[in-house]
Amino acid sequence: MRELLAGVGLAAVVILLYYQSSLLPLLLLAAVFLLLFNPAGLKTMRIGAIGKRARGQSISFNQIGGQETAKKELLEALDFVMKPQEVKHMGIRPLKGVLLVGPPGTGKTLLAKAAASYTGSSFLSVAGSEFIEVYAGVGAQRVRQLFEQCRQKARREGRNSAILFIDEIDILGGQRGRHSSHLEYDQTLNQLLVEMDGLGSSGDLNILVIAATNRPEALDPALLRPGRFDRVVQVDLPDLEGRKQILELHLRNKPVEENISLEKIARETFGFSGAHLESLANESAILAMREGRRRIGEKHLLEAIDKVIMGEKLERKPEKEEMWRIAVHETGHALVSEALRPGSVSQVTITPRGKALGYVRHQPERDYYIYTAAQLEEQIAVLLGGTGSEKLVLGSRSTGSQSDFQQAVRLAKKIIAAGLSSLGVVSMEDLPAGLLHRTIQEIIAAQEQRVSELLAPQVELIKHIARIILEKEKISGEFLRRHLLSATGSAV
Ligand code: ATP
Repeated sequence: MRELLAGVGLAAVVILLYYQSSLLPLLLLAAVFLLLFNPAGLKTMRIGAIGKRARGQSISFNQIGGQETAKKELLEALDFVMKPQEVKHMGIRPLKGVLLVGPPGTGKTLLAKAAASYTGSSFLSVAGSEFIEVYAGVGAQRVRQLFEQCRQKARREGRNSAILFIDEIDILGGQRGRHSSHLEYDQTLNQLLVEMDGLGSSGDLNILVIAATNRPEALDPALLRPGRFDRVVQVDLPDLEGRKQILELHLRNKPVEENISLEKIARETFGFSGAHLESLANESAILAMREGRRRIGEKHLLEAIDKVIMGEKLERKPEKEEMWRIAVHETGHALVSEALRPGSVSQVTITPRGKALGYVRHQPERDYYIYTAAQLEEQIAVLLGGTGSEKLVLGSRSTGSQSDFQQAVRLAKKIIAAGLSSLGVVSMEDLPAGLLHRTIQEIIAAQEQRVSELLAPQVELIKHIARIILEKEKISGEFLRRHLLSATGSAV
């Protein structure tokens, strides 16, 4: 657009110069020149907007659930900001940057904000993506302006330290020479390095850059060199205790029934980030309000888990025949899961939500961080239980199993990559595609066989449970296990 405007402007200048010789063409020429050669100047206002966004409410470390290790490491690093005289006396190189590494929504921004409150620093936040422009030099100029703005803000607020938070640093600090418009990217990153190297020489003002990324491997090594981001703090998904604490924090301002076991909810939310848990607490309140309740109950929290995982309930209802197939499919998953890992099913539902027509929620007996081959094979078997059940009861399979198969293939690849398959330890990159494909098929075929042996004697049981699910739409794991016991005299 700008190029078009510049072209039109230039043409207008030439025409005006040709027909009359007033000051107007010269003024126009100056405007075009500005537009063409100083686009960065026009962006200054956006930097102002960044500053505004940073003026959020202050946060303390107590308002961040879990993340004990990250908090501890960050607090240790912040001591350098809190004790500048001692640091100077001991001849310690001032800490300039801390890199927070972890998946989205785990509280990296919260940690940076808490760091600012804890150290009494002024706080400014930007995202890496805000620096990337097609024009070479614009990003670099913005980096310069940002550091200047950070200093000014701290002075205005009468602080002697400032924290500059750069989210998505991988966008601005990716490895040099990798991008197609690499001149712009490289200049922006170079400017950041220059600014960081210059920190500590601005008199009394202490600036600490806290950056966040979930792709540390994409960062230019120059950023991680000592003297720049030389502290790396891992911010992982919360563990069981962390999830419980985060839930408590986000339910604190909401009316909640007594006797709710947050431990149970935390157990059922393995893999949730802090942002997911915040959303869960919020959704549970919305569900309770929709029902006209004054307090949030356990059932609202449980239903909110489904909503956060799968999305909003869909009004559209499949036809009766399709519903029967979905019920048979989900029953297959549930029975295989209970057979291989008794007590593992938390809920079976055929309520369509988001993209799923039904699903079984599992409850890990504990948080797992590593898996054995047997555990991964069990997971594949559970995934294949749906299609196995359809084939057995209805005599055919359907497209409803596509995402199950995709997940099963992913797990099979994980087994191979971890050196747990019949191939032994292999390099995935050097493995011929044909061999990889055959090994994946081998792993999956073995589990298909296991599932069909497990389910073959249970046709009547599958139909019985599927009928109950069809009628109730949703059953809990306990309900399922009670029925399995009464129907067979023992679990599957
Ligand atoms: P991204 O990488 O996507 O920028 P992030 O790691 O910076 O995410 P935050 O922006 O800090 O995540 O968190 C988003 C929201 O999730 C917070 O506003 C808060 O409501 C909630 N949250 C995340 N982690 C926690 C936590 N540990 N304790 C309490 N709330 C949390």
